[in-house]
Amino acid sequence: MDGSPITVLRAGRVRCADGTRAEAIAIRDDTVLAIGSDAELAGLHAAETVDLAGRAVLPGFVDAHVHPVLGGVEMSRCDLTGTRTAAEAERVVAGYAAAHPDLEWITGGGWSMASFPGGRPAGSRLDAVAGDRPVFLINRDHHSAWVSTAALRAAGIHAGTPDPADGRIERDAAGEPTGLLHEGAMALVDWLLPETSDDQYADGLRVAQRYLHSLGIVAWQDAWVHVDGPESGVHRAYLAADRDGWLTAQVVGAMWWDRTWPEERIGEQVARLVAARDEAMAGARHYRPDAVKVMQDGVAETFTAGLLEPYLDAGGRPTGNRGLSFLAPPVLGRVVGELVAAGFHLHFHALGDRAVREVLDALAGHAPTGDRHQLAHLQVVHPDDIPRFAALGAIANLQPLWACHEPQMDDLTIPFLGAERSRLQYPFAALQTAGAHLAMGSDWPVSSPDPLLGLHTAVNRIAPDAPAGTPPLETAQRLSPATALTAYTAGSRSALGLGPALAVGARADLVVLDRDPFAGPAEAIHTARVHRTYAGGRLVHQAE
Ligand SMILES: [Zn+2]
Repeated sequence: MDGSPITVLRAGRVRCADGTRAEAIAIRDDTVLAIGSDAELAGLHAAETVDLAGRAVLPGFVDAHVHPVLGGVEMSRCDLTGTRTAAEAERVVAGYAAAHPDLEWITGGGWSMASFPGGRPAGSRLDAVAGDRPVFLINRDHHSAWVSTAALRAAGIHAGTPDPADGRIERDAAGEPTGLLHEGAMALVDWLLPETSDDQYADGLRVAQRYLHSLGIVAWQDAWVHVDGPESGVHRAYLAADRDGWLTAQVVGAMWWDRTWPEERIGEQVARLVAARDEAMAGARHYRPDAVKVMQDGVAETFTAGLLEPYLDAGGRPTGNRGLSFLAPPVLGRVVGELVAAGFHLHFHALGDRAVREVLDALAGHAPTGDRHQLAHLQVVHPDDIPRFAALGAIANLQPLWACHEPQMDDLTIPFLGAERSRLQYPFAALQTAGAHLAMGSDWPVSSPDPLLGLHTAVNRIAPDAPAGTPPLETAQRLSPATALTAYTAGSRSALGLGPALAVGARADLVVLDRDPFAGPAEAIHTARVHRTYAGGRLVHQAE
């Protein structure tokens, strides 16, 4: 026993990771020293005693799939997150343009397709609010960009410009570009943007960490870490923050698998990632880049998620399109085998039922069972594949905020999946019943990182901000509050190798809420508010 000062939080409602309840919790250094009644912990000679006045203490939230540095960088640019109509988005752009008269380019993002008629904003609207300045605004899922006429001009995009092989330039009836670029077409403009500096990435991390701590998040997996190239500033930001001692969250980095490298160079790419990992881990305290992110398909809204059966057209007839498999199954198998042999934990983007099956097949053939590999997103899972998660020890990494009816789901997804297949979406309860290990995350900045919104949706299958009368998305797939909370805390922790959640001897990662979100009606879960966050025993957020 050492003599470090003890902090006691008393007069609270503590919910431990195993579901047991208590009034008080004692923290010494970065560890939970004791949990018990106020009377039991009164004898500890605490240096600091905090009266919780009946507030709730839960295990700190762990976001198992998030892009905080990109989110933080976006927050400090023209941030359209949360805008719900074209007019709102245009107002934000106008305000940002007026506040930053000296910026050569207006960049940022966070708009949602559902805010615009047919999901398609027009570049001329940007000209109206930003004048002749080039504007490049990526949408919230990062698959399309809304650009002004000046940006099209700067990139030399006109009616005669062909679509690139991996993207599409949105055009009017006369073939003129309208100011919307999809997928690979974004690159025609993207390379012109001022490069994000290392300082800007570091600021992005600082902003993001503060924001995530304010939501009760104590640790996360960054699912998009490049170790070289122009975007490697994310990796360097973590390394610097950890070295300089201001990385208060624990972070697992999932390093990007570059699928554009030819098959003969798989071994070379693995070796490069091993070198980056080993160098980073040598001095690491809170940043541990020991995972690799492999994208196996795209997203449903742009018909690039890999499906077993074709997408439907707007009239409900099957098309010839089954979406993409970024890696052919034999190549995927080799990649998995070599990365696993090199000691990496794998993190797959697998959204459509074919992509999910291809990844499970690759794990079955090339990875030892129970090796802590994760499949993230899992929008459509074929019922035959549900039991395979438990059988293979594959972790289901869920983004609960997506499991609801909202315009993107109802207008841009369900019609093209068809009614029957749409019912297979986000099968959380089926996975849980079949014994799958569940972890949860937000994919911020794609959607809000607020775990209470995610937990609310996992339990209700209705988004907290849905209009009255919105039905749940597949009632049978609702999770119980305890299951959802475990997934967002202990489940994510063990997926990331972070050790146990709130218990005696565990790392002192906890969130104090104004009340227990699960004590009242399920419809009110999202109304709880974070009062304090402790990460590794440090008070990292305190509400005013
Ligand atoms: Zn993501």
